[in-house]
Amino acid sequence: MTPPRVSVWIPGDQLLLEHPALQAAAALTDRDHTRVVLVESAQRLTRLPYQRKKLVLLLSAMRHYVEELRAVGYTVEYRQAASVGAGLRAHVAAWQPQHLFTMATAEYSGRSFQQRLTHLLSTPVTVLPNTQFLTGRYDPFPQPRKKVVLENFYRAQRRRWGLLLDAQGEPLGGAWNFDQQNRKPLPRTGLAIPPPLAFAPDALTQQVMAEVAALPTGVGRVDGFDLAVTRQEAEAAFDDFLRHRLANFGPYEDAMSQRSAVLFHALLSPYMNIGLLDPLAMARRAEAAYHAGLAPLASVEGFIRQIVGWREYIYWQYWRQMPGLLTANSWRHTRPLPGFFWTGATPMHCLHRVVNRVIDLGYSHHIERLMVICNFCMLAGIDPAAVNAWFLTFYVDAYEWVVTPNVIGMGLNADGGQTATKPYIASANYIHKMSDYCADCPFNPKARTGDDACPFNVLYWNFLLEHEATLRANPRFGPAVLGLKHLTPAERTTIRRQAAAFLATLSAE
Ligand code: FAD
Ligand code: SF4
Repeated sequence: MTPPRVSVWIPGDQLLLEHPALQAAAALTDRDHTRVVLVESAQRLTRLPYQRKKLVLLLSAMRHYVEELRAVGYTVEYRQAASVGAGLRAHVAAWQPQHLFTMATAEYSGRSFQQRLTHLLSTPVTVLPNTQFLTGRYDPFPQPRKKVVLENFYRAQRRRWGLLLDAQGEPLGGAWNFDQQNRKPLPRTGLAIPPPLAFAPDALTQQVMAEVAALPTGVGRVDGFDLAVTRQEAEAAFDDFLRHRLANFGPYEDAMSQRSAVLFHALLSPYMNIGLLDPLAMARRAEAAYHAGLAPLASVEGFIRQIVGWREYIYWQYWRQMPGLLTANSWRHTRPLPGFFWTGATPMHCLHRVVNRVIDLGYSHHIERLMVICNFCMLAGIDPAAVNAWFLTFYVDAYEWVVTPNVIGMGLNADGGQTATKPYIASANYIHKMSDYCADCPFNPKARTGDDACPFNVLYWNFLLEHEATLRANPRFGPAVLGLKHLTPAERTTIRRQAAAFLATLSAE
């Protein structure tokens, strides 16, 4: 009997070597009767004016992945088409498969599209469970009825995967969390910051850079692209992090500096999010680095918390809250995003440096995303959907499943507190303590009002005044509101007046 003709469609952010759809095809037929198809969709590439370095990463990694599959014996079609649907229809018309396998995408709209594929292609389609995350990989996707907080979610992951546990199944070091030892500002001198590995673009990447530079829309520049585009390069970047930055990851994970965008962070999310690195394998290698004496427990626990805690929790929140999350706006904020988010042209030095960093690199680390960008947007009452679109546009690691819960849920607290139990808002005091930005700023981080008062202070106190009753009712935020009792009526009036004047200067142009 002739083996059946089978297709495997691999979306561009699923560049796994052990891809479930490849495995399902292998169980049904042989390599000669299998065609793997990847589609580069013009519609998808220009849905937003994406960061050009992100497009280079994605397209170059897809094309290198095609080479990787061919090297192990697959026949692969790389189709450039107006849309994914058009590319798949053309593939099916040419190859006429009896069955098509694919893996569920990480994103809501992608899964809806996959559910319609059998009808669209007039071919039987099997959509296999997504294996890029630990959540839902082997167990059913958890659907608890009661509210879940990150800490419980994280501990369950540690126990489920046996990470950093002693022989009794209790956490190594006697604690689940070493935050007290972490969260330090960077010392002014005496601490070398090893830069992340840079990868010179090969001929294929250079070709992609030229194509992306010629696209009609996009932010940032292709020049200076130095990210990993193959699995081997991504592994080398991870190895470099384990050896040179993991040890200091914990203490300086919240520090911000003009000296370096990455500091002791991993810069690995761009690769994890397209399937070049596996989260569980990474967590196990970080644990092995601890046992090998490469890094202290507080740093390794902090890193594993990000990978198996925060990342998975965010993915879980996304699926729990979609599709309503996209339009959630529980603080009813409607102000347009100021124009300086596209240019970096603002006298507020922290925002100026971080926005320029994001335009140049498509990267800033977590605390700059949360406590500079989102903090400002929250205090200024910016429309959450506009902030969400900005993050999706500008970052190299941006995909809806990770941006939307982080921005709308965590950064802007617009989901009614489902992702985070309190709004992450802070005055200039926090940025001054954790960064070196304020030293070069025309504003005074210590002044609450007055001509040189930092806008973060004016907006922060104005926010507390505007939302006093709501914030007082939040047990995690209550103490901050207590500070309001020290304000005289005259100070309250001045804060409101100055905040209104500052907000009036924000222009969407
Ligand atoms: P590290 O700080 O070194 O952390 C290690 C890894 O932990 C990251 O690579 C990432 O995979 C994971 N991680 C840590 N925190 C989170 C989190 N909250 N959500 C998901 N993964 C996490 N992450 C993205 O991958 N893409 C985004 O577009 C993105 N947008 C964000 C927007 C906002 C407003 C906030 C607050 C966070 C966002 N994050 C996003 C999460 C986090 O900021 C980035 O994953 C991290 O900064 C990536 O850099 P890194 O690899 O150096 O991370
Ligand atoms: Fe940012 Fe205010 Fe510090 Fe200036 S003074 S860098 S605006 S926090």
